[in-house]
Parts: sequence; C-alpha cells; structure tokens
Amino acid sequence: MLLVYGAADEHVARDLIHAHVPSRHGTAVCRIGDNLAVVVPEDAPELAAALQSCLTELRTGIGHPAGTLSDRALAPFGSVVPLGGSATVGGADFALIAGPCAVESDQQLADSASMALRGGAVALRGGAFKPRSSPYSFQGLGDEGLRMLAKVSAASGLPVVTEVVDVMTLHLVAEYADVLQIGTRNAQNFPLIQAAARTGKPILLKRGFGCTVSEWLQAAEYALAEGNPNVILCERGIRSFESSTRFTLDLSAVAVVKHTSHLPIIVDPSHGVGHRHLIKPMALAAAAAGADGLMVDIHPDPKAALCDGNQALTEDEWLDLSSALRGVLACLGRALPSAEPVGA
Ligand code: PEP
Ligand code: MN
Repeated sequence: MLLVYGAADEHVARDLIHAHVPSRHGTAVCRIGDNLAVVVPEDAPELAAALQSCLTELRTGIGHPAGTLSDRALAPFGSVVPLGGSATVGGADFALIAGPCAVESDQQLADSASMALRGGAVALRGGAFKPRSSPYSFQGLGDEGLRMLAKVSAASGLPVVTEVVDVMTLHLVAEYADVLQIGTRNAQNFPLIQAAARTGKPILLKRGFGCTVSEWLQAAEYALAEGNPNVILCERGIRSFESSTRFTLDLSAVAVVKHTSHLPIIVDPSHGVGHRHLIKPMALAAAAAGADGLMVDIHPDPKAALCDGNQALTEDEWLDLSSALRGVLACLGRALPSAEPVGA
C-alpha cells in the first residue's frame, strides 16, 4: 500500500484514481489538515506516478500498517476535531464531555446539562438509542430522546454526542447529533462506521472491548477512507480476567495511540471502571497519560438513573473531579476551555 500526500486539488486526484483504478478498490482520499492523502493499492504504481505529479510527497508503506490515514506522520502535531459550536477535541485544550448514560426526561437532561456546564464540559452526552446487554433493560427513549437532546442543546449551547446503534436509525440520529458515537458493541460494524462517516458528522469511535489497538485503528480507517477526517477515538476499557472493575481501563492505549496516530483520543473512565468511587483517580490518570479529553457519566440523581446509575457522578463528585483535573492539566500545560452558555 502506498500513501501519497501533499497540497493538491481533490478533483484532480479523484479523476486520476478513476482513470487508473475504475473500481476504486483499495483506494481512499481524505483531507487531513492542509494535505490531501491518497491511498494507492500496491498493484497500481502508474496511479502513484500520476499522483506524484500533482502531490508533493510520496511515502511507501508509511508508518503503522493498521492505520494508514491515521498515521501520525500525516499530522505530526495531532488533529483537532470539531464537536460543534466552538468546541473541539485535540490540540492544546482538554475537552470534557459529560451527561447521563441515557436520556430519561426533559428535566433530567436539562439538570444534567447545567451540571455539565458548571464542571466545564464543552459537550453533552446522552443516549437516546441504548445498546443494552439484556433485551429487558431500558432501551432508551429513541426519537423522543433525540428531540429532548436538541432542545437542551439549544438552551445550553452544548453540542450533543449521542450513540447510533444501527444503519436503520442513522439518518434520524444524524439529524439531531453533533457527534455520532459508535459504541463498543458496534466497534467493528464496518458498514455502520462507513455510513456514519458518510454523513459528514464527526465520529466518536469507542474501542471494542475485545479489540487490540491495531484493530481499533483499522476500524477508524473505515471512517477516514470515506473521506471523513473527523474521528475521535475513545478508550473505554477492555475485557480481562479482572472483576473488581467493570472492564479494564487500558490507559497504555492512550500512549500507544498518541505515538502512532494523529487522531485525538479521549477516555471514558465511567464505563471503564463502572463504580463511581473509582472514576476520579482514573480520570486524572487518563489526563496525565496524555488523553485529549474525557467522557464522563453524570446524573442529577444517580440512584434513580434508568441506566448505569452506579457509575454516574453526583454534582458534588463531578465538580470535585473537574477542579482536581484543572490542577493536573495545569502541570501538563493544558487547560479546560470555558464553556459559553447560551442563555443558561
Ligand atoms: C455509552 O457510552 O453509553 C456506552 C454504551 O458505552 P460503551 O459502548 O463504551 O459501552
Ligand atoms: Mn452506559
């Protein structure tokens, strides 16, 4: 596999691909920062040669074979992904995303958004479609939940991160979401990842709990190969023999991803450890390990939560985490951007 990149006209590159590889199989085009990156199959050297005339650099077998378009060499300072409004993930600022596991009611969501803002969050999370392990558990409010997210987003100014669980509901979810979350159970659902990427919305791709970092980067490659550069990785714990935590939060993955990929990576300590008293230390450790942000479950009344109440922080716990985080980030030369509430 060859990767060609440089400043170039995308139409010219696409025309050359079409001329040399009419099926387009094994090719991809993605704009990463100021550069256009083109993946060229090994058996099409004449395409590489033609592209070389319009692109400034040609690299062969670049970097990590798992993640070609996510290779750090393409953006050595890391990519910055927009979340909606002025919020971003990656770069110097540290992004906090917070909210309930599931959208339950207008009031619960509005209270969660106020809590999120008070703790310095730049985006609101909340599932309307929930991929539950048991079919008898609360499955989310569906389209009603999406409408609640839109209302609270407009009132609070916080962009919305919400999960899409299948291709059937993708376009409905994409109408309301600022960022499409692909959960751990769909982490290798490649047709879903491709279709989500084609909406043009930023993708928050959780790590499959049974996936290696290499498999995770290859899943991200499916989104990038659709021409959508806005992919955020989210470490949320992997399955191990350890049972004192819900999963095993693999913070070494943060360092590995930072070394190999330009994609921003955030950590979800809530699903990783599953117990509220363990979230603060792991959140601080994630920041120290170099994560670009956190996604944290919070709830105005965790005891009454319809989903994952054990891992939702109360307001006091959330504000305590936020202030401890500011201290850790200050040592690292990073900061929490201040949110800009709209009439909140
Ligand atoms: C979630 O964030 O609500 C969720 C279901 O997470 P995961 O896919 O990591 O289990
Ligand atoms: Mn959850």
